[in-house]
Amino acid sequence: MIVVIGGGPAGFFGAITAKEAQPDVPVLLLEKHQHVLRKVLVSGGGRCNLTNNCHDPRELIKQYPRGGRELNGAFHRFGPADIMGWFEGHGVPLKSEPDGRIFPRSDTSSCIVEALRAAAHQLGIEIRTGCGVIDLEFDAAEKEFLLKLDDNSKLRSAKVLLATGGQTSGDRRGGFALAAGLGHGIENPVPSLFTFKSQDSLLYGLAGLAVPNVSIKATGDAFPGKGLSETGAILVTHWGLSGPAILRLSAWGARAMADADYRFNLMVNWCPEVARNDLDKMLITWAEENGKKQVSHGPELGIPRRLWDALLEKVKIPRDKKWAELGKKNRNQLVEALTASNLSVYGKSANKEEFVTCGGVRLKEVDFKTMESRVQPGLFMAGEVLDIDGITGGFNFQGCWTTGFLAGMGMTS
Ligand SMILES: Cc1cc2nc3c(=O)[nH]c(=O)nc-3n(C[C@H](O)[C@H](O)[C@H](O)COP(=O)(O)OP(=O)(O)OC[C@H]3O[C@@H](n4cnc5c(N)ncnc54)[C@H](O)[C@@H]3O)c2cc1C
Repeated sequence: MIVVIGGGPAGFFGAITAKEAQPDVPVLLLEKHQHVLRKVLVSGGGRCNLTNNCHDPRELIKQYPRGGRELNGAFHRFGPADIMGWFEGHGVPLKSEPDGRIFPRSDTSSCIVEALRAAAHQLGIEIRTGCGVIDLEFDAAEKEFLLKLDDNSKLRSAKVLLATGGQTSGDRRGGFALAAGLGHGIENPVPSLFTFKSQDSLLYGLAGLAVPNVSIKATGDAFPGKGLSETGAILVTHWGLSGPAILRLSAWGARAMADADYRFNLMVNWCPEVARNDLDKMLITWAEENGKKQVSHGPELGIPRRLWDALLEKVKIPRDKKWAELGKKNRNQLVEALTASNLSVYGKSANKEEFVTCGGVRLKEVDFKTMESRVQPGLFMAGEVLDIDGITGGFNFQGCWTTGFLAGMGMTS
């Protein structure tokens, strides 16, 4: 018998793959909550961004702050095209958004949940909900695992797939404790994909403002070298900063930011496409040609008007000052504010409660051809319980489908 612990995407896909490969082997899936696939249902704002239209494994692995290297071979064996084919073959038409994110054409995550549930049902996988595993031991004499369930009953199985997810679904009985109990090392779990809290005066009154292309850099003792950089869109919120560039930076810096207790300096270049010297020259030319205009009327720099006003206020240049009166000192201050605004970050918030865990079972303890533990043969692992996480865009689910598939094949080979 194969027992799968955890009814998330990794556990489901592992169970389905195993049962498809060896229909005669009984597969039992245990889920501690009353409902399976809960995160899939709420994912992607209820639409489920199940994967990404990125089909080159070399590009795909760049989307994983942790686990990319290890997933390289895995993605060659089961990648986005495979999972897309699986869902379309199971009656779920898909669509790709311009940024590459893949969703069900119906825009409802429930059809993904239903397709997985129906496949499991058809294959004869037994699913027990409200059934948590509270202890997992290996009985060396019998060469099988002994599972203790939360109703105090016990189960035995020669092969176990641990697919209990990250810290978001974890508690003291979560998968990290079960893996650690069998001798695995756990990279300390901390959140990834979060937004930044900042009360810098520059941001006052800017809530709701989106800036399409900025360059940001987190600096401080916790960050290696000159700091950690990202480019892309950011959004000013009531509590600080959000948007794709912030989320990506939070993923790459998840561990360093946790070490810094989420207190660090964020340098923002609001005009990354113009070199600092060129920006200075642009302002000189603009001042020469528009000397009588107020500085509130600046050159076109691709930044919103509200931000320009806020930057003027930050460097204490009155909005009604004339360009002809703007001396070199003021101009330097303005260039500095445009290209290197220093904002202090003092905490993190969840991105619409969408976050993943950085950390988990150490990857060197797992054979990525089969997802079998090198520490405890017979134990397989898949999904977020491993020290794997991706940036937003469907990459976290893809990690689950891929590792679930490999584990399913590994358990039946
Ligand atoms: C709000 C939100 C939205 C998201 N949206 C997206 C998205 O659109 N695209 C994307 O790629 N990623 C998204 N993610 C991330 C994605 O949901 C996770 O990476 C993914 O669900 C991890 O899958 P998993 O199977 O490893 O674990 P989970 O989905 O966490 O499933 C693990 C299951 O194991 C169960 N379990 C835990 N311990 C035990 C135990 N001891 N015994 C029995 N059962 C146990 C849990 O109850 C849970 O049901 C989102 C995350 C959140 C929180």
